[in-house]
Amino acid sequence: MSFTLHGISVSSGIAIGHAHLISHTSLEVAHYMLPKQFIAEEIARFEAALLATRDEFTSLRSNRPTHAAAEFDAFLELHQMILDDPLLSVAPREMIANEQCNAEWALKTQTETLVAQFDEFEDAYLRERKTDVTQVAERLLKKLLGQPGHHPLSARHDVEMILVAHDLSPADLIQFKPHQYAAFITDVGGATSHTAIVARSLNTPCVVGLHHARELIREDDVLILDGDQGVLIVNPDKPILAEYKLRQSAWELERKKLKRLRTARANTLDGALIELHANIEKPEDIAEVKENGATGIGLFRSEFLFLNRDSLPNEEEQFEAYRTVAVGMEGQPVTIRTFDLGADKQIKGVERVANNPALGLRAIRLCLAEPQLFRTQLRALLRATHYGNVKILIPMLSSVSELNQTLQFIAATKQNLDEEGIPYDREVKIGGMIEIPAAALALKVFAKKLDFLSIGTNDLIQYTLAIDRTDEEVAHLYDPLHPAVLHLLSHIIGTANKLGVPISVCGEMAGELAYTRLLLGFGLREFSMFSAQVPNIKQRVLTTNLPKIVLLTQRIRRADDPMKIRELLERLNA
Ligand code: PEP
Ligand code: MG
Repeated sequence: MSFTLHGISVSSGIAIGHAHLISHTSLEVAHYMLPKQFIAEEIARFEAALLATRDEFTSLRSNRPTHAAAEFDAFLELHQMILDDPLLSVAPREMIANEQCNAEWALKTQTETLVAQFDEFEDAYLRERKTDVTQVAERLLKKLLGQPGHHPLSARHDVEMILVAHDLSPADLIQFKPHQYAAFITDVGGATSHTAIVARSLNTPCVVGLHHARELIREDDVLILDGDQGVLIVNPDKPILAEYKLRQSAWELERKKLKRLRTARANTLDGALIELHANIEKPEDIAEVKENGATGIGLFRSEFLFLNRDSLPNEEEQFEAYRTVAVGMEGQPVTIRTFDLGADKQIKGVERVANNPALGLRAIRLCLAEPQLFRTQLRALLRATHYGNVKILIPMLSSVSELNQTLQFIAATKQNLDEEGIPYDREVKIGGMIEIPAAALALKVFAKKLDFLSIGTNDLIQYTLAIDRTDEEVAHLYDPLHPAVLHLLSHIIGTANKLGVPISVCGEMAGELAYTRLLLGFGLREFSMFSAQVPNIKQRVLTTNLPKIVLLTQRIRRADDPMKIRELLERLNA
């Protein structure tokens, strides 16, 4: 049966492929049979995942934060015991061998048996431990999903696969990079969540907030995903399929054409040069940065180096990552943000449980609370400044005391490097992200102490409008054109320009065509976005005449009726 679902478009493009269902929360996993010759390999895959999960527990115990409560150890011990229970560690192997099924399916079946046993306990405390069983099984499952086996579809290279999940974390998504899914769809999530950001950076169509997609779609269903319209068509009829194949080719052709702009300078019609930089998550991303003609890196989200691993990267490993980017960009600016961990990006060993993670110990707050972690990163960053045009960016500043503490950390790290005779750029520029309304309103005091500023519109909007950017239930309220947001943006850009402090936007608004002229009109001259969007934005810049847009942007800035703002914006973009 054919049906259509509507969600929130987060990464554009059209994908046509077969559904591959996964879920991390309910252990609903793909079930397929394997030919005999793959059975030994499948058992080995299960054993490797088991070993990796055991190692993960060992490393969690040895990297346990000093201030962690004693319950942390007890909790880990319990989870290790559950992992070693024969029903989780031995029975799945036997099931793979006897039933010739995939490891995920065997794990799911055995987990259900174990959970049923816990359900029968009289004691309420023991009964509740079934949650721990599920958590351990999910940990193991994640390891399996990171190393997929011989799925009958993935073995066929003529078949594109679309990943269907209830929810995906940014860490999950980045882990799927090598598997080259044609698209991602999820039931939950918001347009500026980090999961959405990673999908864009993988240049893969993605629609989130589809509510019941995971329940309604069956493994192997044929799907058409229109990432621009946020539309998903399940099991389409032949004429629809043919129509979308045509649209897909046209879309790809358009992208190819735009790439011809790669080496063109991004000048407006009246001759102003606009810097178009790229946002990256990993050193490998610089190939795409160059391919799309970005002239620098405006935001390296360094915390992605931490995700999906069992131990924290040490100074050498971080230094190598930063240096690789600095050298690879051949003198072009590389802005590396210090870790923005916490909220939706947790790392092993420093996990936090908070009622309101987005308002909790996140980004610079977490770094200041974990001085060793921060010092290690600053040493690696400063050392890398010697090899290119590296700048350091501090996320989520809200008070000047945080900034002062951060600057003291940097000064102390420089002094240590001096004592050790290690070279670094003495003029390294330190910038701050303006993404909390408090910092935007008290901008001058931050601008005085910093060399440059970068507006994180994703968080600025989240915190101004009190809307969780990861929650699809309030996604419709997430509005970059809210008069309060426009007021803050024009205030930040105008003040920074008046003070002569370089200002850029590195949030998702910088990569949205609808807002390019508006931001230019506010006085912005530097944008940083996901690489694949640089050619599109460049084309918009090339067709913009700055003196001609000033009046309209001023009217938009002064308007307070949402309909009027939209109407004026349409005229600006016409
Ligand atoms: C932002 O908040 O706009 C930003 C660029 O940072 P992140 O999306 O990583 O929070
Ligand atoms: Mg942010």
